Amino acid sequence: MKRVDLHVHTSASDGSLSPAEVIEKAGEAGLSAIAITDHDTVSGCREATLAGAEAGIEVVPGIELSTRCSGPVHILGYYIDTDNSALAAELKAIVQDRDERNEKLVSLMREDGINITYSEMKARFGDVVGRPHFAEILVENGIAADTADAFSRFVGKGMRYWTPRKSLSVQEAVALISAAGGIPVLAHPFEYKYDSKTLPGLIELCMEAGLQGMECRHSSHTAGEMAYLERLCEEYGLLKTGGSDFHGEPKPDISLGTGKGLISVPYSWLSALKERAGCQ
Ligand code: AMP
Ligand code: FE
Ligand code: FE
Ligand code: ZN
Repeated sequence: MKRVDLHVHTSASDGSLSPAEVIEKAGEAGLSAIAITDHDTVSGCREATLAGAEAGIEVVPGIELSTRCSGPVHILGYYIDTDNSALAAELKAIVQDRDERNEKLVSLMREDGINITYSEMKARFGDVVGRPHFAEILVENGIAADTADAFSRFVGKGMRYWTPRKSLSVQEAVALISAAGGIPVLAHPFEYKYDSKTLPGLIELCMEAGLQGMECRHSSHTAGEMAYLERLCEEYGLLKTGGSDFHGEPKPDISLGTGKGLISVPYSWLSALKERAGCQ
């Protein structure tokens, strides 16, 4: 059976592998297709598409947008036009806001004697610098034991180095992806504070804005949650998607294609997505 992975990060955001390295890994994992879904940027899509064409691996241009809906909610977008000007303008504003937030974080850390500059961080980590990168710095400096410790004591909400940044609403993210010709999909629904009682409300709210699919299979979901989400997709007429949320080194327990060993996403799910996007 042909398999795919529709949730993959590269060094264009907080993954550790370049887009070309991710394609190489996808070949080793025997995948037929992958979607590049970096946080708030499409800058890795081109390199991945070129490398994929050489390696015979299909590449879906994608993105993962962070939004807030009383708490964090992520929206994936597939088959977006990566040259769309409204999308480019919005992503530029999001990255600028991140930069302002990150500069504040750097000042707070420098006040505590951590010797970093933001220009060094941008040079090392690329355009989209996020809290996982700050966590890495804290671990390297022996201040935090690991990423989880860095989030729970330093960069997690309300902690010493936490500074808020602006967020899109879920409706804005869904609309932005649709306007760029993409298919908006609710990412990993069980990674938030929603449960089976409150999730239908979130799905309906997103569907009113144009949501077309839901990520059923994901490294953070149990087998029971995945089966439940697939039933919900059938009930609501949503497309089913799935992916590992591979990041490389920052999440070493998550493998491309299989996540923590529990997931497998058939090519037929991508076929349905492609057909909806008019890319057949
Ligand atoms: P930012 O968008 O820069 O505020 O960083 C948010 C990102 O940090 C999320 O997309 C997650 O990938 C990551 N993150 C959030 N909470 C945690 C946590 N407790 N442990 C590890 N990573 C986290
Ligand atoms: Fe991430
Ligand atoms: Fe996510
Ligand atoms: Zn992700």
